[in-house]
Amino acid sequence: MKLKSFCVTAIFTVAAFFASLASASEQPTGATTAPVTNAHFQVEPVSDEWRAGLPRDADAATKAYLDRLSPEIVSRANAYFEGGYWLHLWNFLLGLVITTILISGKRAARVRDWSQRVGRKPFLRDMLFGAFYSVAGFCLSLPLSIYQGYVREHDYGMATQTFIPWFVEQLVGLGVNTVGLAVAVAILYAVMRRVGAGWWVWGASVSGGLLVVVLLIGPVWIDPLFNTYKPVENGAIKSAVLAMAKADGVPVDNVYEFDASRQTTRISANVSGIFGSAAVRLNDNLLRRTTLPEIRAVMGHELGHYVLNHIYKMIAEFVLILLAAFLFAQWAMAKLLVRYGERFALKGVTDVASLPLLSAVFSVFMFFATPVTNTLIRVQEIEADRFGLNLAREPHGAAEAFLKLTEYRKPDPGPIEEIIFFDHPSTRFRVHDAMRWREAMGTP
Ligand SMILES: [Zn+2]
Repeated sequence: MKLKSFCVTAIFTVAAFFASLASASEQPTGATTAPVTNAHFQVEPVSDEWRAGLPRDADAATKAYLDRLSPEIVSRANAYFEGGYWLHLWNFLLGLVITTILISGKRAARVRDWSQRVGRKPFLRDMLFGAFYSVAGFCLSLPLSIYQGYVREHDYGMATQTFIPWFVEQLVGLGVNTVGLAVAVAILYAVMRRVGAGWWVWGASVSGGLLVVVLLIGPVWIDPLFNTYKPVENGAIKSAVLAMAKADGVPVDNVYEFDASRQTTRISANVSGIFGSAAVRLNDNLLRRTTLPEIRAVMGHELGHYVLNHIYKMIAEFVLILLAAFLFAQWAMAKLLVRYGERFALKGVTDVASLPLLSAVFSVFMFFATPVTNTLIRVQEIEADRFGLNLAREPHGAAEAFLKLTEYRKPDPGPIEEIIFFDHPSTRFRVHDAMRWREAMGTP
């Protein structure tokens, strides 16, 4: 789903960031009980003897792990991940085209006038406009969404849904987004109208507040619309994860699994929730496709996000980015409205009809800020990896799990490429961290 409003773009970009902290952003429908695997992605398993016989030297051990990725797997992973670079560009450009379509011919202005007649009150008018904007953005970006979210995922063997259940989920997402966008837009413009020239500071503040609300209600109200969550039955896995949580004072007394295999073959896990609503959640692909040492390594990483307060730090960092983005928007909107305002019947920056233009300006900023936002997230991921190694003490479990993540992430990029495009470290970086830990600590 592609959200086009500036505030929602911001909110959902961040929400996606947090989801991607755990690599869990897919959604579901339809039940699968058989183990789900990607036929195109089979790394040959090795024995404990193989691992114990690896060189002590971290570089050499890393090479031995990466050599287990066949040339076919590497070229597929590269093609999939590099295709994502282009999709990032196409989505950005499509957003600009959608804005042009919506404001030209005074379409946005006419929808605003209709919303005024139907809604009467400014708050209701802006809600109606926000809902329209959500639906219009969904429809206009649907061809790209189908290619990116359905066709391409099937081409690479990661999608597990047929089209109808997939599309039903997109509609559920559209419903959630439309309600959220209607409320967010109405609140934002109500505040912007009251505060005058300082609207950009208040806009960033309100967006930051809305982000916290999304993070609070997302795991409780939104996630269950797409997946079923239930306590993990496997006693060994449950007690291993709870023991690590207890060791670090993470206040959880249960571990949950969710049926991500409905939608995807990807493995993932997360520690979700803020303000004391923490929950440890593993997806069923992780439970089925990995061993206990791998699960302990992955969950050590996830608990690291919690113990290191990553979610609060990310909110703080993102509010600063929002402030910069809104400051840029204030400058750009002043110029654009002087030049095009009359032609498209936009009455100023507090006129909700200028929302598509504000969204476009915002997306320009966020597009060029991509290396910064990716790096902020990637640094937290590296911290969580190192925390997880110290907690789980499973360098081989970590390395095996990182090999499996190559399914959807280029394993060995160049250093600049990693800085610009990677929101998680590459396989090489992560395996090397694990092997360095192994070398320094002298474990088998
Ligand atoms: Zn993470």
